[in-house]
Amino acid sequence: MHSRTRRAAAAVAGLLALGLAAAPSVTAAPRATAPTPGAAASLPSYETWQRDVRKAMDPAIPYLKDRVAQGGSKLAIVLDIDNTSLETEYHPGAPNKPVLEFAKAAAGSGVPILIATARSESGKSAALSALKKAGYPAITEICLKKNESHAVDVKIRCRKQFVAEGYTLIANVGNRPGDLEYKNYERGFKLPDYDGQLS
Ligand SMILES: [Mg+2]
Repeated sequence: MHSRTRRAAAAVAGLLALGLAAAPSVTAAPRATAPTPGAAASLPSYETWQRDVRKAMDPAIPYLKDRVAQGGSKLAIVLDIDNTSLETEYHPGAPNKPVLEFAKAAAGSGVPILIATARSESGKSAALSALKKAGYPAITEICLKKNESHAVDVKIRCRKQFVAEGYTLIANVGNRPGDLEYKNYERGFKLPDYDGQLS
């Protein structure tokens, strides 16, 4: 056998081995993260969502404690409401527990809780009472949608306003990519939105 032929045969054998090795991981891929191309997107189960939320929030309380210990002026955290603070999609009105735990840890450390939400200004008192009913500590400030067309613009205006008021935004928790845009905060915690399925 010529060496060129042997090399070609070895390459083919290698490709076959790769194909065989890759096959099980493809079939075992979870549906939520690898939807079938062309299939309608569907929300994952509540359990999967909670697992994903917990994974994102796991470092939040240790981070908060470390950050508070470092000090600074008017440290505050910013939370989104829908599908972040509250389980809007899965259990309307119920607290999203990992975020509630984070908010309680912040309050326990004397860190104000600021809310930035794309809910409209007219729903301000309803939003505050929903958070209170869900067990959230006192909300120091809430900033809502005025006349913006896009939620991202609301979130950016609200955070700019908080910074202008002198707050140091040590954490920003949201579930839409737009919630984390414009980085005038120290650390972001991005919860899942499953390609825009969760508001
Ligand atoms: Mg949201």
